[in-house]
Amino acid sequence: MDPSSKSFWIFDATPDFKDQYQTLANLGYSCEGIFLTHAHMGHYTGLMHLGREAMGAKNIAVYAMPKMIAFLKSHGPWSQLVSLENIKLQNLKVDSLIQLTNGLSVSAFLVPHRDEFSETVGYQINNNSEQVIFIPDIDKWNTWDRDIDSVVMEADRLYLDGTFFRNGEIWGRDMSEIPHPFIEESMNRFDGLSDVNKNKIHFIHLNHTNPAIRGNSESARRVLKKGYHVAQEGDMFIFKED
Ligand SMILES: [Zn+2]
Ligand SMILES: [Zn+2]
Repeated sequence: MDPSSKSFWIFDATPDFKDQYQTLANLGYSCEGIFLTHAHMGHYTGLMHLGREAMGAKNIAVYAMPKMIAFLKSHGPWSQLVSLENIKLQNLKVDSLIQLTNGLSVSAFLVPHRDEFSETVGYQINNNSEQVIFIPDIDKWNTWDRDIDSVVMEADRLYLDGTFFRNGEIWGRDMSEIPHPFIEESMNRFDGLSDVNKNKIHFIHLNHTNPAIRGNSESARRVLKKGYHVAQEGDMFIFKED
């Protein structure tokens, strides 16, 4: 959110997009763009609310990687959002900066994930001196070509994949077919980081089977005790004024 222009940009269009949009619209903010990570259901299907049947939006900028753009263009009902100009697709290039305001920029980076329909990216949001990282989905930290520990050290706030708490959490399914870094695994990996670095990490994208989704659970308390956070609705990171 940029208070001076009363603009907001949103990362992923989840099925809850309409409520998030409304919350910000009620504060007098207007949506200047949507950044999509990939073509899994929970990450783009909220675009439906922009269509003729609902908001009838006009040319909202939707930033996505080339395969994701081709996917939206060539499959209904998404293709109708393009032909009726509810959305305006903007091609993303990895690591190139998109300037949102004078101070604020965004860039995308590739992450390993089950890429059935599109690439998968995470996002880096920067002002001149601070950096926020958004990675809702990644297979495992060690299959990424970047070292997550250094990414944590360089950033000021990170929203990281916390889909599952531990292996075996989903009964009757082989969890290696839907890989994510388990929160337990991430906490072990980050154990050597300083308290300041751990404090930057906020787990997001929690599955309903993840016990840490309930604030009073033992697992949620363990996350906090170890110095991390489970992201909550309304949480804020406020960039320093340059
Ligand atoms: Zn996914
Ligand atoms: Zn996901």
